[in-house]
Amino acid sequence: MLHAMPSIRPLSPELVNQIAAGEVIERPASVVKELAENSLDASAHRIDIEIEQGGMRLIRVRDDGAGIAADELPLALAPHATSKIASFDDLTRVASMGFRGEALASIASVSRMAITSRRAGDDHGTRIEAQGAQTPRPAAQPAGTTVEVRDLFHAVPARRKFLRAERTEFGHIDELVRSLALARPDVEFRLLHNGKPVRMLKPAADESAQLQRAGDLLGDAFARNCLRIEHAAAGLRLSGWIGLPTASRAQADQQYFHVNGRLVRDKSVAHAVRQAYEDVLYHGRHPAFVLFLELDPAAVDVNVHPAKREVRFRDARLIHDFMFHALRDAVAGTRAGETGSGSFPPVMVGAAPYRRMENEPDPFPPRQFGLGVREAPVDAYAALLDTRMADSVPAAPLPDTESGEAPPLGYALAQLAGIYILAENEYGLVLVDMHAAHERVTYEKLKAARDSHQVRAQHLLVPEAVAVSEREAAAAEEYAETLAGYGLELDRSGPRQVTVRRIPAMLDGADAAQLARDVLGELAEHGNSRRLEELQNELLSTMACHGSVRAHRRLTIPEMNALLREMEATERSGQCNHGRPTWTQLSIAELDKLFLRGR
Ligand code: ADP
Ligand code: MG
Repeated sequence: MLHAMPSIRPLSPELVNQIAAGEVIERPASVVKELAENSLDASAHRIDIEIEQGGMRLIRVRDDGAGIAADELPLALAPHATSKIASFDDLTRVASMGFRGEALASIASVSRMAITSRRAGDDHGTRIEAQGAQTPRPAAQPAGTTVEVRDLFHAVPARRKFLRAERTEFGHIDELVRSLALARPDVEFRLLHNGKPVRMLKPAADESAQLQRAGDLLGDAFARNCLRIEHAAAGLRLSGWIGLPTASRAQADQQYFHVNGRLVRDKSVAHAVRQAYEDVLYHGRHPAFVLFLELDPAAVDVNVHPAKREVRFRDARLIHDFMFHALRDAVAGTRAGETGSGSFPPVMVGAAPYRRMENEPDPFPPRQFGLGVREAPVDAYAALLDTRMADSVPAAPLPDTESGEAPPLGYALAQLAGIYILAENEYGLVLVDMHAAHERVTYEKLKAARDSHQVRAQHLLVPEAVAVSEREAAAAEEYAETLAGYGLELDRSGPRQVTVRRIPAMLDGADAAQLARDVLGELAEHGNSRRLEELQNELLSTMACHGSVRAHRRLTIPEMNALLREMEATERSGQCNHGRPTWTQLSIAELDKLFLRGR
C-alpha cells in the first residue's frame, strides 16, 4: 500500500536556522569560535570569555572592538546579514574571519542569546535579546560588544544528547581559545570557567612571547625543540616554528597551519611538510609545527568548507613548492654545530631560543639533545668562558685551526663505553653517539654520491652467495640496475639465492651478506606498493647503517676528530637517519651546576 506523500511546505525560518546551525554549531566550542572570531573581525585587542558548565549553561564573550550600531542590532541577528562582504567580488578576497552572516542567527536558533554593544562614539550601550520581541533597550556597556549564549541546545534535545561531560566540553573550548591565541598573538585572551580564571594570555609583544604561546598550546617540549621559520618569496610569507625531528610525534596531532590568520587543514601542505622531513623522520612519525602563511586574500578561496576549516588555493602547486623549499632548507640547516640563523652561540642545532620568565623553574632540565646552551643569555657565556680560561687548564691542549678558532664540535678527548666520543669545545663538553653520527654522515655521502651518479663500487675478493627468500631473489632481479647505481652489485644465482659481487666503496668492511639481505628485504616488502623514489632514501639509510662504525669499536683520537669534522660538514648531522640525536652538549655552566659550583 502506498502512503500519500505529505504535501510540500516551506520550512519555517526558525527551522532553516536550526538546520544551518547543525553545520557549524556542533558543540559549545563552536559557539566560542564564532563569537571570538566576530570579536577579532571587530578589531578587538582584548577578548574575555566566560564559561559556565562547559558552555552548556553560559557562554559570554566580551570584546573591546568596534561595536554594533544600535539600529543595526536586529540585523546582526538576522540570517544572511553581514557587514563583511557586499558583492561577489568581495567574496573572492575575504580578509575577515566571517562573511556568511549566519553565525549569530544560527546560535540564536539553538540557545537563548543576547547582544549588548556600544560603539566608541555612542553615549550608552544597547542590548537586544534574540528571543521575543527583539526590541533594543539601553544598557550599561563599555565600548565593544558582549554576546551571551545561555542554555545551548535547550530546544534541540537531539544535539544535547551528543554533548559530553562538562569537563570534555570545556576542554574543547580551552583548546580552541589557545589555538586562537596562537593564531593572533597580538590579542589578549582571558578564559574563565565557573568563575575561575583558566587562561590569562597577555598580548605577545615579540617572537619569544609568541613562542611561549606556542609552548602553551603544544607543550614546553615543543617550544624547546623547534626551529624558527621565516621565509618570503613570490608574494608569499611563511613564518612560525617547526619541531626538530627529535621532537616528532606518533600522531599528527600538533600541526597548526594558518592561512591569513585562519587555522586550516590542507592536504597538499601536509604533504609538503612530510616531504621536507622525509629524510630525518622515522616512518610513521609526525613533525609538530605552528606555521603562518600570509598571502593576498584574492589568492585563496575561504568559502569551501561549512566551518571554514579548509581553503582552496588558486595556485596550490606554488604553495606546495614554496612550503616544501622553505621547510626543507630549515630542516637541512640542522647541521651539527650551527644554528639556523648563524647567531652566537653557534653550538645548538638550529633551535630558536626559548626563554622562560626570570626565576621560573625549568620543567625540563636540559638533559636531552640540543638543550644545553639555549637558556643562558649570550653575555653570560662570554663571561663564563673568560673565567673558565683564567682558572682552569683544559684537559687537553686544543690545537689551532687555520682560522685560529676551534671548530664547533671541538676536539676529541676520549671514547666512553665504546659508544660515545667525548670532545671539548668552546662551551664545554660535547658527547657524540659515534654510530648514530657516522650513520648520518655515511647516509648523506651515499645520497650525494647517488645524486651525482658517482657511487664507487668495490669488488668483493670472493663473491658472496647469500640465501634469500624467493621474493627477495625476484626483487634482486627486478632492481638489479637500480642497486648497481648505488654501488651494490648482485645477481640472482638460484631460485632462493643471490650472489653479491660489489658493494659501495664507502661501506668497506660491511657484512655484504647482511647488507644484501636487508636491502632486498626492504625491496621485497615495499617495492610493489611504493614508488621507487620514495624507497630510495630508505635503502640508502639501510646501507648507511651497515657501513657505519659499530658500537664497541675502538677509535683513535685522530679517527674521532675526523668524524667530528665530517659531522660539521654534513647536512642534518644533528640527527641520525632515524631521527635520533647524534650529539649533545653539556655546557660548563651545566657542569658547574652538577657540582654545585657557583661562579
Ligand atoms: P559574519 O561574521 O559572517 O558577518 P555573524 O552572524 O557572525 O556573521 O555576524 C553578523 C554581523 O554582526 C557581523 O557582520 C558584524 O557586523 C556584526 N557583529 C557580530 N559580532 C560582532 C562583534 N563582536 N563586534 C562587532 N560587530 C559584530
Ligand atoms: Mg561571524
